[in-house]
Amino acid sequence: MTPVMIDGKDVAAQVRASLQREIDELKSNGVTPGLAVVLVGDDPASQVYVGSKVKACAELGIYSQKWALPASTTQEELVQLIHQLNADDRIHGILVQSPPPAHIDEEAVILNIDPRKDVDGFHPVNVAKLVLEDEEGFVPCTPLGCMELLKAYGIETAGKHAVVIGRSMIVGKPMANLLVAKNANATVTIAHSRTRDLPALCRTADIIVAAVGRPEMVTSDYVKEGAVVLDVGINRIADESRPRGYRIVGDVDFDAVKDKCSYITPVPGGVGPMTIAMLMANTVKACRQLTAR
Ligand code: NAD
Repeated sequence: MTPVMIDGKDVAAQVRASLQREIDELKSNGVTPGLAVVLVGDDPASQVYVGSKVKACAELGIYSQKWALPASTTQEELVQLIHQLNADDRIHGILVQSPPPAHIDEEAVILNIDPRKDVDGFHPVNVAKLVLEDEEGFVPCTPLGCMELLKAYGIETAGKHAVVIGRSMIVGKPMANLLVAKNANATVTIAHSRTRDLPALCRTADIIVAAVGRPEMVTSDYVKEGAVVLDVGINRIADESRPRGYRIVGDVDFDAVKDKCSYITPVPGGVGPMTIAMLMANTVKACRQLTAR
């Protein structure tokens, strides 16, 4: 089977173009969406992510604040900043880049974010809204991006068996909730590290979403002919032939699997580009909801 490559860069560009129109319209009515990104410490990967988020805001004309706090920042100081941002009318979205340093209790910090500004969708109020299918809530950006990819390629989910590998609050669980919701109607199985005979389970799937963090774990043995495979994984593996000494691979062994699939996302260029596009979408949504009269 010749698979269709799902082009996340292309779909992300379409999402951004449509957001641009919305932002221009908001601005013409005197409203500018605003996002605050808070980074604690100097983790290099986090610095890159934060930089990309701020850059995406600038490209779309979203107002942004970048707060780069030292690793020594206390929980109280961080929470104080969150309260300040909650009260700032220029800011509609707040995110604290994960993971913070070990002395910070991330869950406790998230509880302090006004759920109406929680554009990462991590606050328990938004987790509940996702389960309740309340569309005013905020859904974590990566699974939201996966749903956009399915929609963009007209991939039917109703009545299909989807296996989501991974049960994190950032990807696996929200992904499963989105797929089982009444506007998607898939039958969903969530698999995890204790799942028995994962390859056999995955072979029953029409749609596989891999969100594990194990390089190329999903091999041809996991995939039935014609399945749709979305690969969320971002893993570094050593590669001396590359200038940086590593390359990025997904959780799926792309070359081994692709010829069995009807649709597949590459890594990079599949799910990855969608995450920031959906963060921008959540920020615009928060702005609309906070400024609606
Ligand atoms: P996580 O470590 O929080 O969760 C991993 C999940 O995989 C766990 O629920 C665990 O039970 C499951 N798991 C571990 N080993 C397993 C095994 N052998 N078999 C079956 N399940 C197993 O990770 P996460 O934050 O959900 O991220 C998963 C992957 O997605 C990572 O590679 C991460 O870098 C990537 N990610 C990408 C984006 C993006 O923007 N594309 C965003 C978030 C995460």
